Amino acid sequence: MAELIDGKAIAQEVRDEVREQVAAWVAAGHEPPGLATILVGDDPASAVYVGGKQKASAEAGIRGFDHRLGADAQHEEVRALLHQLNEDPEVNGILLQLPTPPQVDGAALTEEINPAKDVDGLTPISVGLLAKGRPGLRPCTPLGILELLRRHDVQLEGAEAVVVGRSDLVGKPVAALLLAANATVTVCHSRTQDLRAVCRRADILVAAVGVVDLIKGEWIKSGAVVIDVGMNRADGKPTGDVEFEAARDRARLITPVPGGVGPMTIAMLMRNTLEAAKAAAR
Ligand code: NAP
Repeated sequence: MAELIDGKAIAQEVRDEVREQVAAWVAAGHEPPGLATILVGDDPASAVYVGGKQKASAEAGIRGFDHRLGADAQHEEVRALLHQLNEDPEVNGILLQLPTPPQVDGAALTEEINPAKDVDGLTPISVGLLAKGRPGLRPCTPLGILELLRRHDVQLEGAEAVVVGRSDLVGKPVAALLLAANATVTVCHSRTQDLRAVCRRADILVAAVGVVDLIKGEWIKSGAVVIDVGMNRADGKPTGDVEFEAARDRARLITPVPGGVGPMTIAMLMRNTLEAAKAAAR
């Protein structure tokens, strides 16, 4: 039976490390890193996400700039704030919480974030740097997945990795990171023929789909490492994309939902913010 990958504990380790590194950075005479969040409107889930990021920043010694605009804020008003933050030397990372209300084009505004402050790693410049294998800020959830694999000493070089899902947020960047680590990567999506056969080849299987139990336990290669990114609800409970119990019988390592990939995202956001501050000082 597979060992569980404890994302909660690993995320805490990363956050503790970032806190120590921030303290050392400040002790060396630098300004603390700064993370600005922009929340437009009053979507309760978005408010919880932003609150979590601000709380994590405070715990890490990162200065938080918590910008909240009303649901009737206009596109140009949000854009002006974003450009002001782009220029502000105290701000090293900028997050525009999505979704935004319909009159604000959140996707277009995200592309206007200064790439040096793009701690979500989602601007075209950051995506291009990742595709080219050049240094840059990487998306947080995919970075968190790589961190879980590294902390469990999972051999990536030469491994057969299968990523199910090709979103800009998770699937594509995690595939690029695995490729950069010299895995042999296959990316599956809704038009993939015979998903079962592809998954059965995987030494490392990353499921980032958003469909409860799409990946069947019997599709898991014996001894595989299974990373379940799905955050779904079934019978009122958080549930991933993988048939957990059946997969656990065959896998070597597996992430639970909740407590697997989920907690890593904020931890890697903290690390990205510190990296952005260090790069800005160079
Ligand atoms: P998304 O943008 O909806 O993308 C889903 C992907 O799954 C698409 O590429 C889609 O294919 C593919 N897909 C859908 N049905 C499929 C099927 N039957 N067979 C094979 N592939 C299929 O989702 P996302 O943003 O990547 O998120 C995926 C999941 O991860 C969600 O549950 C989300 O909540 C979760 N998530 C978790 C975290 C975290 O833990 N921190 C962060 C982000 C996302 P097409 O491209 O062909 O449509």
